[in-house]
Amino acid sequence: MFENLSDRLGGVFDRLTKQGALSEDDVTAAMREVRVALLEADVSLPVARSFVKSVTQKATGAAVTKSVTPGQQVVKIVHDELIKVLQGEDEPEALRIDNPPAPILMVGLQGSGKTTTTAKLAKRLKEREKKRVLMASLDTNRPAAMEQLAILGQQIGVDTLPIVPGETATQIAKRAKQQAALGGYDVFMLDTAGRLHIDQVLMDEVQAVRDIAQPRETLLVVDGLTGQDAVNVATEFDGKIGVSGVVLTRMDGDGRGGAALSMRAVTGKPIRFVGLGEKMDALEGFDAQRVAGRILGMGDIVALVEKAQEVLEVEQAERMMKRFQKGLFNMNDLKGQLEQMQKMGGMQSIMGMMPGMQKMAKQAEQAGMDDSAVRRQVALINSMTRKERANPAILQASRKKRIALGAGLDVAELNRLLKMQRQMADTMKKLGKMGKGGMLKQAMR
Ligand code: GDP
Repeated sequence: MFENLSDRLGGVFDRLTKQGALSEDDVTAAMREVRVALLEADVSLPVARSFVKSVTQKATGAAVTKSVTPGQQVVKIVHDELIKVLQGEDEPEALRIDNPPAPILMVGLQGSGKTTTTAKLAKRLKEREKKRVLMASLDTNRPAAMEQLAILGQQIGVDTLPIVPGETATQIAKRAKQQAALGGYDVFMLDTAGRLHIDQVLMDEVQAVRDIAQPRETLLVVDGLTGQDAVNVATEFDGKIGVSGVVLTRMDGDGRGGAALSMRAVTGKPIRFVGLGEKMDALEGFDAQRVAGRILGMGDIVALVEKAQEVLEVEQAERMMKRFQKGLFNMNDLKGQLEQMQKMGGMQSIMGMMPGMQKMAKQAEQAGMDDSAVRRQVALINSMTRKERANPAILQASRKKRIALGAGLDVAELNRLLKMQRQMADTMKKLGKMGKGGMLKQAMR
């Protein structure tokens, strides 16, 4: 689905990874090519621009490891950035289809593949999630479309709401809702009418249906072949109806794939599924990792760099251990420890995970050492000068006052922090004396 983009990027990175050292010019030139490749794949200009900017920044600031080449490192950065563009900061949650009967509203332009996608998704929910699904077509202007859904329903063994000629879309929506409740269905899917273009009559109708159905999910089906138009359609539908997710169809074609790359960044809506053909099982859950992997086609390099980064982290940790063993533990070390703790999901969760630590977690909480305390402690350390961090012993009353003020906290809290740092430094020294095979070294394994 991303052949052209994939080829273009592959060429750029092949050249880059063959080189040893990279100059800034090499990176700049490569990024210029990446930008052109993205634009040719019909990625929107602002997205392409911010993508390249972000990669360049990270490539310049990246920690260098000996075991990979700078070019390989750039590949990994591009890979991670692709994932971010494709899915935003977080992976999307599962479809909200608990609380039966859960309504799913399917919206989109005519010809986008909406009816096909409705049936594909119904089949998926039936087979993978063991849901009882009821489908209803609301396309009262096109009896053929209503028939089409009924035929697909028979094919995949999913019930459709019987067609009653003369009913309006809102009447059908009401009937589907009643039938879903009476018939004990888990999910009911409403396949709304499409038009060739967005028009007010269509939007009014879909809004009225939405108000009746109160959908938990409103999935917009757009044709992935239409590139940036797909993104524009999504923006319009979201403004008027409010969509919760997007399905990109025809991603099996030789489209340029730009819609997938721009969708999340421009609309803020997650891509939920991609359509990969006309058959009923040609629907795939959208997985940013996998798609990024396909686009780059450089899985080996990505894995290699990930491994090297792990090694780098261990090296850093070992360096720190050496300091600790000498009894060196200043505010920078404490800050590093506190931040590490925050990264790992906070003190409570770390302690909660360790056997026998639950009791201590509770005590720590009672002693005012909860996660918000950690944030305050980091704020206090940030408020110190470099000299003060390296040697907290120099903190006298006036310095303390300035630091506390800078962090918006009181001196008593700073004093507690200082005491903690001193105690930890003492402990480190004692543990360090236990020698190389001592506890700390053991704990590192
Ligand atoms: P609707 O008007 O939006 O309901 O569109 P349909 O569901 O009737 O689909 C229009 C055409 O697109 C049909 O021939 C489908 O088989 C085809 N189609 C839908 N999804 C895909 C897809 O993911 N890939 C391909 N190749 N064809 C698709």
